[in-house]
Amino acid sequence: MHPRDEVARTLLRLGQTEFDMLRADALPDAPARDWTATLAVTRAQDASVWTLRPLHLGLPAGSSGIQADIRVQAIDGEAAFHAALDAWAHAPVPDEAGEGPEVRLLIGMAPHGPPEIAALWRTSDSWREIDRVFLEGQPGARLWCQGAPPPADDLPPERVARFTSSFGVEAYQRLRRSTAVVIGAGGTGSVAIPMLARAGVGKIVIVDSDLISPSNLERTHASFPEHIETPTLKAALARDHVRCIDPDIEVIAFDGRLPQRAIVEEVAQADVLLGCTDQHTSRLVLSDMARRYLVPAIDCGGLIEGANGLVTGQIIQLVLFRPHDPCPHCRGMVDDMRMRQELMSPEERQALIDAAGDAAPPPEAHEIPQIDTVGYITTVSGTLAAGYAIGWLTGRFDPPFQRMQMNLIADCLDVTDRPQPMDEACSCQDERGLGDAGELPFAIPAHWGTARRL
Ligand SMILES: [Zn+2]
Repeated sequence: MHPRDEVARTLLRLGQTEFDMLRADALPDAPARDWTATLAVTRAQDASVWTLRPLHLGLPAGSSGIQADIRVQAIDGEAAFHAALDAWAHAPVPDEAGEGPEVRLLIGMAPHGPPEIAALWRTSDSWREIDRVFLEGQPGARLWCQGAPPPADDLPPERVARFTSSFGVEAYQRLRRSTAVVIGAGGTGSVAIPMLARAGVGKIVIVDSDLISPSNLERTHASFPEHIETPTLKAALARDHVRCIDPDIEVIAFDGRLPQRAIVEEVAQADVLLGCTDQHTSRLVLSDMARRYLVPAIDCGGLIEGANGLVTGQIIQLVLFRPHDPCPHCRGMVDDMRMRQELMSPEERQALIDAAGDAAPPPEAHEIPQIDTVGYITTVSGTLAAGYAIGWLTGRFDPPFQRMQMNLIADCLDVTDRPQPMDEACSCQDERGLGDAGELPFAIPAHWGTARRL
């Protein structure tokens, strides 16, 4: 990136693993500790997103990055941060820049209260403020601007009084500044989305490429027979539902799928990502996005086991895909054959059947097996995912599991957690903070086209 390049906003993201590493050295009464790190650069239409790479990893050859100087200091209150900021601002600026812009980040670790941050980057002839800093796991971190802490937020409206009496006014204000991207607006997504909206999430991005079909009416909230008579995209329906709940929420709907570019750009600027589809490709790319752009993600789903009236299990599953979590390959959650089926167009499938002639067609030509589920199961699953997302966004609670499954008809719901180790042969952790560099988990098939903003 050229230093003179102007973008509307500059965002900086640090994953929890790296932030914890930096914080571990910030001891009270100890001198500030300086680090040098590599940032990957992602260009979105109206923003440049910089993601911190793990401190021991650089960027792959050929990808452009920038250097960041990070100073971490233990402080005690605003006055101390002010003093640190003052001393830092008056430190000599190096005469000769290296390649690309340089970033300086001062993180003050207060013993009580959220981290205080000041963030600048140097253009060819001046210092500019960074517009937003995301510290994963630290949603209350306060970004100083022009040497002053952020101004106070508005007080919440009466309609969220129960929420604020439970979680506090500040939790609502954090939600209001947050962005959630929800992939899938069917059974689980159509529940998670309004839950986020009612709690007060300020910006919601909805992604789905399907129309409402008759069999969706049993599960998809806010869907009615009129949405079959007039073909209606699930993403548009969920967007309109959010607008009815609160017209002040910024809501964007896409007819599309990850990893189409316009959607990736929204993910790179989001606070949390929810996976509400039952597709293997979608789960794989959700986890990939979480690592690359340092956005914590939750995948949710639910299914019925058994058939024809014999129900043997009613399963709800929630899986965390934070940047440092094992990927779906490590967890044995993706099937390559199923991936090929999902990425194939109907025409390609038919061509395989035709080519087989009288012989049996290859397995990938078979229809994708239908997962059975019902509305109350998807509703529970979607609403739990939204709840844990709210926990993350407000910093009030974390999911007490890594991969949780429960069976609604087993004794005591048979709740289990299935923490799974990283597969040492898998290179997924090298992708943390990689941004746009490197390869996507699969090539976008031509028949998907590009995402369309509705
Ligand atoms: Zn992996």
